Amino acid sequence: MFRRSIYKTPAQLRSMVEPGLITAAALDAVRPLIRPGASTLELDAEANRAILARGAESNFQLVRGYHHTICVSVNEEVVHGIPGGRVLQPGDIVSVDCGAQYEGWNGDSAITVVIPDDTRPDVVAQREELSRVTEGSMWAGIAAMASASHLGDIGAAIQGFIEAQGPSARSGETYGILREYVGHGIGRKMHEAPSVFNYRTPDAGAAVKPGLVLAIEPMVTSGGEETFVEDDDWTVSTVDGSDGSHWEHSVAVHAGGIWVLTAPDGGAAGLAPFGVVPAPLA
Ligand code: MG
Ligand code: MG
Repeated sequence: MFRRSIYKTPAQLRSMVEPGLITAAALDAVRPLIRPGASTLELDAEANRAILARGAESNFQLVRGYHHTICVSVNEEVVHGIPGGRVLQPGDIVSVDCGAQYEGWNGDSAITVVIPDDTRPDVVAQREELSRVTEGSMWAGIAAMASASHLGDIGAAIQGFIEAQGPSARSGETYGILREYVGHGIGRKMHEAPSVFNYRTPDAGAAVKPGLVLAIEPMVTSGGEETFVEDDDWTVSTVDGSDGSHWEHSVAVHAGGIWVLTAPDGGAAGLAPFGVVPAPLA
């Protein structure tokens, strides 16, 4: 059977710029709607509008059995939450995952937002810290792509960043990293080989070199790493009821360096603390 190389040509990498920017625009459109009183279905509709307005289509709707444009996961839900009638509340921690397909190429990205709540400052502070740790671990993994020789270097950087943050205030232990859900290659399809683990593995994995495009997406909890799938057959929640956060970007490795396809600045702001400067695709 024909197996597509995991390494893309420079022309193919350039084809992934536009779907990346459309994915970023869709999340930008959703972000201001993440507030008390909004239903998760309203967030979904806004993301779909933003994608269609740019002549693209939702790649989540192309996933077998899934009929929405985003996944939206609230509080103890970590990933794969289905939009519906749930109304967002003050203090909720909300992760939104979204992707667009444009001219046959894909983008995939996720953000986490904590809704303010003046009556529960401790809960809000803990949730904001969880999101900060998760986002930071994503940038640590992306920064590692600039110098990694193999995929294993990326997972080690993600886990190392999380461990260096010290214990979660909620559990008193290191933040939990989901094991069963991982990052992935992306291109003609949203989910392609190779898998990208968010933790150290015994195997070095595939070589990191020009042409590789990866969705880097740590999924982190303020407690344990064990999860279960809810009765809706999609939503992944923590067993211990701790909170979840999910951040994701699609990132290209090319001859000149790395470029974050789903960030309008190529990842410059997020990578700056790591001393990495992204290079635009030539
Ligand atoms: Mg995603
Ligand atoms: Mg993904």
